[in-house]
Amino acid sequence: MEDDKGPEYGKPDFVLLDQVTMEDFMENLKLRFEKGRIYTYIGEVLVSVNPYQELPLYGPEAITQYQGRELYERPPHLYAVANAAYKAMKRRSRDTCIVISGESGAGKTEASKHIMQYIAAVTNPSQRAEVERVKDVLLNSTCVLEAFGNARTNRNHNSSRFGKYMDINFDFKGDPIGGHIHSYLLEKSRVLKQHVGERNFHSFYQMLRGSEEELLRDLHLQRNPALYAFTRQGAGLNVSGGAASRQHWAPRAQSGHGPGCLWTVHRILAAILHLGNIEFVETKEEGPEKEGLVVAEEVLVDYVAELTATPRDQVLRSLLARTVASGGRELIEKAHSTAEACYARDACAKAVYQRLFEWIVNKINSVMEARGRDPRRDGKDTVIGVLDIYGFEVFPVNSFEQFCINYCNEKLQQLFIQLILKQEQEEYQREGITWQSIDYFNNAAIVELVERPPRGILAVLDEACSSAGSVTDRIFLQTLDTHHRHHAHYSSRQLCPTDKSMEFGRDFRIKHYAGNVTYSVEGFIDKNRDFLFQDFKRLLYNSTDPTLRAMWPDGQQDITEVTKRPLTAGTLFKSSMVALVENLASKEPYYVRCIKPNEEKVAGRLDEGHCRHQVAYLGLLENVRVRRAGFASRQPYPRFLLRYKMTCEYTWPNHLLGSDRAAVSALLEQHGLQGDVAFGHSKLFIRSPQTLVTLEQSRARLI
Ligand code: ADP
Ligand code: MG
Repeated sequence: MEDDKGPEYGKPDFVLLDQVTMEDFMENLKLRFEKGRIYTYIGEVLVSVNPYQELPLYGPEAITQYQGRELYERPPHLYAVANAAYKAMKRRSRDTCIVISGESGAGKTEASKHIMQYIAAVTNPSQRAEVERVKDVLLNSTCVLEAFGNARTNRNHNSSRFGKYMDINFDFKGDPIGGHIHSYLLEKSRVLKQHVGERNFHSFYQMLRGSEEELLRDLHLQRNPALYAFTRQGAGLNVSGGAASRQHWAPRAQSGHGPGCLWTVHRILAAILHLGNIEFVETKEEGPEKEGLVVAEEVLVDYVAELTATPRDQVLRSLLARTVASGGRELIEKAHSTAEACYARDACAKAVYQRLFEWIVNKINSVMEARGRDPRRDGKDTVIGVLDIYGFEVFPVNSFEQFCINYCNEKLQQLFIQLILKQEQEEYQREGITWQSIDYFNNAAIVELVERPPRGILAVLDEACSSAGSVTDRIFLQTLDTHHRHHAHYSSRQLCPTDKSMEFGRDFRIKHYAGNVTYSVEGFIDKNRDFLFQDFKRLLYNSTDPTLRAMWPDGQQDITEVTKRPLTAGTLFKSSMVALVENLASKEPYYVRCIKPNEEKVAGRLDEGHCRHQVAYLGLLENVRVRRAGFASRQPYPRFLLRYKMTCEYTWPNHLLGSDRAAVSALLEQHGLQGDVAFGHSKLFIRSPQTLVTLEQSRARLI
């Protein structure tokens, strides 16, 4: 763990760079990475590069190195950040949050696990049973959530396909007594379709591979995933199912849910697989039952009915037709076309999986609920939040999902800049230093382009969705073009006819803070409307399985009552983002910025071009600049001495000057640097980077 003594390990904090250029930044990042130093600070922000190999950095021994220490006392590490957040929570009763960002495969989820492990390791010295129970659920919930919410993608073999925010509640002793998970935007379209080389959610394969013959027989399943439409696309069938096998999640799920629930989970997964194999054929045969559309393989309907504990004839009817209210209260059955039936079947499969996922999250939450809370102290407990959410995404073709994800990143970036500045300001005040304001890039215009009614993209999309089927994706795009013709961050082929990277009538482009992204409007309206026929909701609400029924409370509405449109996916996502940002803003933030070193997931290789891009869009250079703008650096007096005391005869090896502050003053005077600093109550503030460079150089001469 001893580290960073010589210049060959680079600078442990990017603020110490001689100059803030991309070249200098990359050089330092690379140098450290090659020496196995995957963590580097920007002030209190931790930059982390995925090593793609096991490094001896974690575990109980490493944890003790960081426990109770100050951030600067040890080499940069996730444990140091977790410890800082924990200390702020415990000593100052501040709610804190740790925001982990970065692109897919950059190491966010692994980082969140290390943070949880740290917190679990340093709490509950008295081994209280209830606290142990909560810690167990906290640590184990990850495994269940990964089984149901993660999948193999081309960018990450265990990619989280949902955003996760987890609150951990602590009592006045600083021990975890409960927790709560929020999940964001599960990529449910994956249930139906996977790209080449990718897979469906792990849970399906884990069930097929890991179940006993008897269970599979009861579920009418065969072991081979190639037999099911939803699991045979893409590739990687022979690859083991993520980190965990079914044996892995099943007993854990069981401990929290009871065996009855686990059986329901299996039946729901199996029903989805059977549903996916249902195909429709048009028939011309005469007869009341046979007219129009029929299901090709009717035994699948039997299976779905049995597994969902619903009446067979109603399953069949929901697949082939929908109920509509004609005029007043009169109900008529309208037969689906083949396309409509396929759409309805797919919508149902997606929705069933999503509700299952949400139900699992809720289950975990009910098990983690802060039971140990002392009623007299109710509301007094403090919270550490950990956010592990999808990073900025750019694919060859970007759709509604990427649009939402990138909007989320705009919101978080906006918050990041605001909070970093706010924190700076507060610190200056706390330390009694005069504050000077800083200019920074403000992405408010982009956030507004997306979310501000009535012309923001989400509002225009909602409007398109509410005009009963008549508005096409193309018309939606035209409306956007009209509204945002002059917007600095918006363009389309229509507005920019010479730009061949966009297609007429299909693409629009947003100039995000992280770079340009071209979105194809195809499917925007459908995905936003996220429509499921009421017939399916009612069908599942009428299931005799109480667990399944509980997932469909909206199925009890009568068709004639369903007049109000349900909120769109975009609107729901926007409100969840607004709430998330409000929540984070109310807490003391810590940031972990993850970088993916190469696309091939190779150990120890840092591809410069690839990283440069991430450094740029994570705004890391800007972060260093903001950090250095007012004062290039601020360091508690003891930390400053620790690093530089060797450069001055009065302070080496120890000083006799009464206070650390006096010693720092003597040291600076000897270097002739006292004019460039301000003395805070507990910290030294250094104005220009040049002063730091001078100090660093004289230090380097001595080691
Ligand atoms: P993200 O959540 O950002 O998409 P993950 O946290 O799932 O990325 O990391 C992707 C993969 O990278 C992991 O499955 C693991 O193999 C590897 N990895 C990430 N962080 C580390 C680390 N600190 N040490 C070793 N391997 C890591
Ligand atoms: Mg992840």
